[in-house]
Amino acid sequence: MPISTHAVVVGAGIAGVMTALYLQRRGCSVTLVDRWEPGHSRASSSDYNRILRAIHGSDEMYTRWVREARLRWMELEQELNTELYIECGALILAEEGHSTWEEVTMPTFDKLGVPYVRVGPDELPVRFPQFDFRKVAFGLWEPEAGMVLAHRAVTETFKQFQREGGQFKRGRVTTDETEIPLLDGKPLSADLVVMSCGSWLAYLFRQTLGPLLKVIRQDIVYTSTPDGDRSFDADQMPCFVDHGYGAYGIPSVYGWGVKAAIAWHASDIDLDDEDRVVDQSAIARSRQYWAYRFPRLANEIVIDQKACHISMTPDTHFIIDFHPQHSNVLIVGGCSGHLFKHGPMLGDYVAGVGLQEWGTAPRFKIGPRTSMPMSESPSGR
Ligand SMILES: Cc1cc2nc3c(=O)[nH]c(=O)nc-3n(C[C@H](O)[C@H](O)[C@H](O)COP(=O)(O)OP(=O)(O)OC[C@H]3O[C@@H](n4cnc5c(N)ncnc54)[C@H](O)[C@@H]3O)c2cc1C
Repeated sequence: MPISTHAVVVGAGIAGVMTALYLQRRGCSVTLVDRWEPGHSRASSSDYNRILRAIHGSDEMYTRWVREARLRWMELEQELNTELYIECGALILAEEGHSTWEEVTMPTFDKLGVPYVRVGPDELPVRFPQFDFRKVAFGLWEPEAGMVLAHRAVTETFKQFQREGGQFKRGRVTTDETEIPLLDGKPLSADLVVMSCGSWLAYLFRQTLGPLLKVIRQDIVYTSTPDGDRSFDADQMPCFVDHGYGAYGIPSVYGWGVKAAIAWHASDIDLDDEDRVVDQSAIARSRQYWAYRFPRLANEIVIDQKACHISMTPDTHFIIDFHPQHSNVLIVGGCSGHLFKHGPMLGDYVAGVGLQEWGTAPRFKIGPRTSMPMSESPSGR
């Protein structure tokens, strides 16, 4: 495709803003469209922060992507002169009797040269005194991991896109019965239309993506930290993934509190018609979790919350593929709860697919997918 291409990117979450920026940097003229202002509260990308960690089980491709994405986040923060990434490390807790995912990660890290330390049960409480390590067989400590400041990353990338000449239009794209994207009732006219609408893709492409995407609600709760106690701050505590419990979280920065999500608890969400407040049951689950894993947080209070959503594919691989009937419509989504960290890599890759510099990888194709055993799962779910 010639670089005089006019591209429309629909959806200004992290996938859309990064794709728009990378298309523009290849010389395309790009219009980004979203129903709301980039960074709005309904998008998956709009929480304060997201974990960046290379651990992806035996999957080498995502592991490489994260390693490269980490460098690109650092470059972007230099370029934009704003903090986007905090390297506080990540600690993955391998549960007694269920540590397949962590076991298969270590040879992958060895092969790709990813720094890590396997921390045994005796050493864990010494190195990470905030945690109670009951039922943990060992920890995988990844020092070159951390958190991306998610909301800021979206809004700052968007501003950069505009500074470099990108256009933005507020509008709601719909699809007709053949799934052609329409704006104001008319087909979107562009050489390339990238549909990066997050979980809403399941509504826009019911025929094509219906069997592939499951939209689920994810409630996040932030807890206060004990008065005067700095040990839950990001310079002293890592991000964590607690596989046995099905939870993960992020230490406090800027006084936001410690974030915890009991992620493996899946329920439905209506993306447009449900109030975005977390359930009381989610708060109760979080409290139970703090008491279990962080005894010093047991009597703390909820200081913030976010009712959010992800769209899962059966194999947890993303979707990056052209619509089967519309050759200029590229669908990007199926985040499966692990897309944010890849942002700059994903945007560059999608731009290359869109401009036919390369084809998409088989894993990203629309098509029949099957669920994976834990030993092969890239997300650990
Ligand atoms: C609770 C939670 C925790 C997570 N933790 C992590 C983590 O630690 N690490 C990680 O890497 N990932 C994590 N993720 C996943 C990550 O946040 C998502 O994969 C990512 O934000 C998805 O970005 P997106 O751009 O595809 O979608 P979104 O951010 O949802 O953006 C989609 C955009 O499309 C727009 N849109 C939708 N429909 C239309 C339409 N019809 N017309 C115009 N615009 C439209 C929306 O308004 C929205 O702005 C987490 C997700 C959740 C919910």
